[in-house]
Amino acid sequence: MKTVCVIGSGTMGNGIAHTFAQFGCTVHLVDIRQDALQRAVQTIEKNLERQAQKGSIHAALKSETLARITTFTELEKACATADIVIEAASEQLQIKTQIFKDLDAICKPGTILATNTSSISITQLAAATNRPQDVIGMHFMNPVPVMKLVEVIRGYKTSDATCNAVMELSKHLHKIPVEVRDYPGFVANKILMPMINEAVYTLQEGVAGVTEIDTVMKLGMAHPMGPLQLADFIGLDVCLSILEVLQKGYGQPKYAPCPLLVNMVRAGHLGVKSGMGFYEYKPGIKELKVSPFIH
Ligand code: NAD
Repeated sequence: MKTVCVIGSGTMGNGIAHTFAQFGCTVHLVDIRQDALQRAVQTIEKNLERQAQKGSIHAALKSETLARITTFTELEKACATADIVIEAASEQLQIKTQIFKDLDAICKPGTILATNTSSISITQLAAATNRPQDVIGMHFMNPVPVMKLVEVIRGYKTSDATCNAVMELSKHLHKIPVEVRDYPGFVANKILMPMINEAVYTLQEGVAGVTEIDTVMKLGMAHPMGPLQLADFIGLDVCLSILEVLQKGYGQPKYAPCPLLVNMVRAGHLGVKSGMGFYEYKPGIKELKVSPFIH
C-alpha cells in the first residue's frame, strides 16, 4: 500500500492522513473545500510538532511526514493512482454513496475502497459500486495518531483478501485492528452513543449540570473524559447522525436522539469544531467552561 487517498480533511481526515504519512505512505488528501485542506495541513503540522516535542517521533520525521502529503480538491486526480482509499467525508449517506459511485468509476482495479464511517452500512456503500468485494470499513478513533483501535468492518460481500490486507495495514500503522460485523453502529458506537444520548437526557431533565454529569462518569467509572465533553470532541452533528442511523437500523425507541442534542445541532453548536457545544472552546484556553447557552 504505497499510495493512500484520504477523502475529507476534517477532524478525522487530517488524523488519518497524518498517520499514513508518518508510517511512510504517499498521501493524497482531498476535500471539496480548500479552506478545510489548509486547516488540515496546519493541524497536522501542529500535531507533529507536539509529537516531536514529547519525543514520540524524531524531529526529522516531522518534515518527512509533511512532505508525503499532497492536497487536492478534485477526486479524480487524487484517487486514480491510489492503492487504497479511506473515505472520511461528512457522515451523510447521500454524500458517501456518491463518493463510492465516483470511486468505482475512477480507481484502478483492485484498489481497496475503505470508509471511516461511524455507523453507515458498509454493505449499502459497497452496493453503490461494481466491486463490493473490495469495500470495507476501516473505523479509526479520534485523535487518530494517538488512539490504538481500528474497528475493521466486513460488509456482506467483502472478500477475505480485502479484510486480511486491511488488518495487516492497520498493524503496519501500529494500530490494533478488531474485526466486527456490519450492523448499525458496529460495536463502538452501538455502545457509546446510547451512553452519550443518556447523558444529554440527564442534562435536559435537570438531573444534574454539565460538569456534574461529566465528573460522575470520570471519577465514578474511570472514563478519561466525561460523555458530554466526549460528544463535543466527536462533534454533536456526528453524534446525531449516528443515533439516527441506530434508530432507523434497529427500529427501537431507545436510540431516539435527545431533543436537546437536536436543538444544539440546529443552532450550530457542534462542539470543539464550532467553538461551542456543552462547553465553550477558545483558541489557547485549556480550562473547560460550560456553554453560557446551557441552563
Ligand atoms: P468533519 O465534519 O470534521 O469533516 C468532514 C469533511 O468532509 C469536511 O471537511 C467536508 O468539507 C468534507 N467533505 C464533505 N463532502 C465531501 C466530498 N464529497 N468530497 C470530499 N470531501 C467532502 O467530519 P469528521 O468528524 O472528520 O467525520 C468524518 C467521518 O469520520 C464521518 O463518517 C464520521 O462518522 C467518521 N468518524 C468520526 C469520528 C469523530 O470523532 N469525529 C470518529 C470516528 C469516525
